[in-house]
Amino acid sequence: SWSSSDSVISTDSTGESAEPGSPYRVVLLGASGVGKTAFASIFAGAADNEVCEKEIEVDGEPATLTVLDTWDSETDADGAQECYMQTGDAYLLLYSVTDRASFLRASELRITLRRFRPAQHTPIILVGNKCDLVRRREVSVSEGRACAAVFDCKFIETSAAMQHNVWEAFHGIVQQLRLRRDSKEA
Ligand code: GDP
Repeated sequence: SWSSSDSVISTDSTGESAEPGSPYRVVLLGASGVGKTAFASIFAGAADNEVCEKEIEVDGEPATLTVLDTWDSETDADGAQECYMQTGDAYLLLYSVTDRASFLRASELRITLRRFRPAQHTPIILVGNKCDLVRRREVSVSEGRACAAVFDCKFIETSAAMQHNVWEAFHGIVQQLRLRRDSKEA
């Protein structure tokens, strides 16, 4: 379920790479253990590289994505963090619905990201992963949705374990990137 905010996309002047054909860099952010590696593996298919580039079809049109999952936000140096915050075209900001600390961490990351990516419309999706673990849930759907509304980003709940909504998240990123691209061309 998508939050209703973020429907108006305008141009900016950051000069990011968004030409058709060039790969979009999608960065996975989130606390340790929330499912970033699981997300990257689903995207990569059999291979589980730290950086995976792949063409996928979204709404009948091909898009090439490079998915970056190298940053463990709790152990890596700040330099690496800043690098990833600057190089992404779009971000999947993950938390685990079974881990409230990871939800708070996602908020912190969102604030840091805003510092590095002040452009209002860098596509970001807040992803509440592990929604299959019903009995261990600590963060409700409505809390996730409210957080996304505050942060002006999309929201989706997923289960990497059940392969539920993971592709929808990647497709959502491509759709937002295209909205940005189209508004720039207009
Ligand atoms: P990372 O540290 O963010 O890369 O997290 P991982 O992808 O390594 O996942 C941490 C643990 O959570 C692993 O044991 C995964 O198998 C498990 N996991 C990841 N996603 C899900 C999910 O959607 N549901 C369940 N039940 N477990 C998950």
